Amino acid sequence: MSKYIFVTGGVVSSVGKGITVASIGTMLKGRQISVSVQKLDPYLNVDPGTMSPYQHGEVFVTKDGAETDLDLGNYERFIDVDLTAESNVTSGQIYSSVINKERRGDFLGGTIQVVPHVTSEIKERFKNLAQKSQAEVVIVEVGGTVGDIEGQPFLEAIRQMRNDVGRDNVLYIHVTFLPYLTSTGELKTKPTQHSVNELRRIGIQPDIIVCRSDYPISEGIRDKISLFCDVERQAVIPLPTVDTIYEVPLVLEEEGLGQLVVDKLGLKARKTDLSQWQELVRRIKEPLEPVNIALVGKYVELQDAYFSVREALCHAALYHNRRLNLLWIHSEDLEGDGSEVLLGSAQGIIIPGGFGIRGIEGMVEAASYARNNHIPYLGLCLGMQVMVIELARSALRSSEPNSTEFYASTAYPVIDILPEQKVIKSKGGTMRLGDYPCQLVPDSLAARAYGESLVYERHRHRYEFNNKFRDPLQEAGMIYSGLSPDGKLVEICELSGHLWMVSCQFHPEFNSRPGRPHPLFRDFLRVAKDVLREGAQPLLPLSS
Ligand code: GLN
Repeated sequence: MSKYIFVTGGVVSSVGKGITVASIGTMLKGRQISVSVQKLDPYLNVDPGTMSPYQHGEVFVTKDGAETDLDLGNYERFIDVDLTAESNVTSGQIYSSVINKERRGDFLGGTIQVVPHVTSEIKERFKNLAQKSQAEVVIVEVGGTVGDIEGQPFLEAIRQMRNDVGRDNVLYIHVTFLPYLTSTGELKTKPTQHSVNELRRIGIQPDIIVCRSDYPISEGIRDKISLFCDVERQAVIPLPTVDTIYEVPLVLEEEGLGQLVVDKLGLKARKTDLSQWQELVRRIKEPLEPVNIALVGKYVELQDAYFSVREALCHAALYHNRRLNLLWIHSEDLEGDGSEVLLGSAQGIIIPGGFGIRGIEGMVEAASYARNNHIPYLGLCLGMQVMVIELARSALRSSEPNSTEFYASTAYPVIDILPEQKVIKSKGGTMRLGDYPCQLVPDSLAARAYGESLVYERHRHRYEFNNKFRDPLQEAGMIYSGLSPDGKLVEICELSGHLWMVSCQFHPEFNSRPGRPHPLFRDFLRVAKDVLREGAQPLLPLSS
């Protein structure tokens, strides 16, 4: 039977609860304990797929096609597991399921209430994941902070779990934030005391408190939290802000959290091996030569909208012993004459996914700049569609070619809606989602990157390359280097005669791991790092 770790947040959100959860998973996996993870999101949307990236950040797609919270991306990268739809539960899912059951008559005669019906539905989700994953430990992160109205049923459900599965099988970890007062120069523990009180009010006494802070946490502060919150001294774990998220498992391990979790849950202790992580962090901290990559997108004000893209670029840069210097470029800023100024120092250009017409012309401008100046280019989903539009406009000597997503009546619909999407009216969870196979064309840049002939990649789109334009674009230099196995859907395009201009209809960023960069990102960076832009100096050999 699985054991459960429930992680709640106190005081404020966005202090790295997701990274803490991912790191606990890393520490357990480093002891060869099998782990699965689940994120509970208290909002009423069924999934984040219908939310603006400005509201929610990136939508992370699992291989089975669920549109999920970006924390799942961190869990996958840290624990190196492929998660499924069961790992993201929202209030929207819970309530729609309970209401469906009620309409079906499952509870005939009964009054449907938050306790027990909603809480039982939530607990079913914990148990389903435990059953399906067969993991020794299931870590459950409760989104938001203690005290949020929407979060109450989730907290009540995790409280009940201690009785349901036994005290020794459940651990509560509370992640809080210690604010710093400049006037007195001290860290304050009162907000933490209040959030622990709030937890206790509903019957949860945390076993461990992880304290996030931007400043060093003194022994006195730990004593105080231990005394007021009734948590053993060694179970108050400081987590000051660190340089890279990949350092968090090492800091928590150093503070004894891994051992504490093993002891408290009575897990079988195996030798801890975090050497891979130590090596990773050592390399991240090394002074490395920078490589400038321009990310041209429309949501760049909120960098979380491109979380996995940024991480995948970091992994690839590190693989080539480079430090990623990411230039965040708002595509609308390229719509004037800004391309040389904004892209002049870029050694590579990446256009990530996106929806809607805003900023598209700037992206087309960036693709044109990459093509004409031989700058390595990687297009992801929308980035592929933009590359197709740009080449078509140049080849057909017309500004008409477009996607029907942006210009429904264009004379040259080079990107058009997928046939199966034409009849779909409902917006939630209806795109072409998740893993689909892609057959690679031998000797192409894509096939060379993968070193395989058939790959599976995660998708999230409604539009595709319009096959009517395959021939004219092929004449203009386009190579269709990845196709669906039936040959009908263009999955990867690349440009002949260019240094490295490759783009794909899927999202390779979701499959990149810190020690195992995705092949397309890896080769993009391999070529980009050697591109010399104006004013840059060639690298001198370090030893003669
Ligand atoms: N908007 C485009 C489509 O739906 C691209 C989607 C994406 O970039 N994820 O096909």
